[in-house]
Amino acid sequence: MNWVFKPSPVVGCPVLNQDLIFPVNNIYCVGRNYRDHVLETGSNPARESPFFFQKISEILLLPGNNLDYPDDTKDLHHEVELVVAISNDGYKIKSSEAKDMIFGYAVGVDLTKRDIQKKAKQAGRPWLSGKVFSGSAAISEIVLKNESLEPDKLEISLSVDGEIRQRSVCDKMIWSVNEIIFLLSQTVPLCPGDLIYTGTPSGVGKVKKGDTVSATLHQDNSTKLSFQIK
Ligand code: MN
Repeated sequence: MNWVFKPSPVVGCPVLNQDLIFPVNNIYCVGRNYRDHVLETGSNPARESPFFFQKISEILLLPGNNLDYPDDTKDLHHEVELVVAISNDGYKIKSSEAKDMIFGYAVGVDLTKRDIQKKAKQAGRPWLSGKVFSGSAAISEIVLKNESLEPDKLEISLSVDGEIRQRSVCDKMIWSVNEIIFLLSQTVPLCPGDLIYTGTPSGVGKVKKGDTVSATLHQDNSTKLSFQIK
């Protein structure tokens, strides 16, 4: 049997200081996972089960690329997030197995058309229109996990034109990295190549054409991303 047409190429994200490319599969994102950000959006920070939405691998903004400002929004926001790269299959895993699913970490920016997302929220509709567009998931190179470094000790930050807008240690998450992996796997079969954007701390805000957005994952083997908005 032949393919009807050639399958789409796999999107690959480089691995820091390794001659390796991480093949990207599904992209999951956690909504409202830092108390201070939940409060700034006017929502309730009670510890309800986390909720997820998805992006598609074709819209990743890979290291070295710039972002075209989308023409249907007047309120494009940055959300800096710790990104977890998954390298195992896992469906309905035990919570103790979550950490073994992790290949490494990256820093990412969940770019959001806030005006369009707000309209979707008010209408009780999915967030796709505000969250999924070309370049809307920026990512750095992926850093191999370090067994001595717990994910909640990681720190992420984001600056726009050199001015710090967001900075947080990942222990401020309502749901930890391991809890997110465990909970997501109860309904979705996780696959090697999946990326999980784990939510953003407070300080989200507007970006405009001409801005340079930079984000850092602070650790011994730190990684960064930087892109310009055209
Ligand atoms: Mn987000």
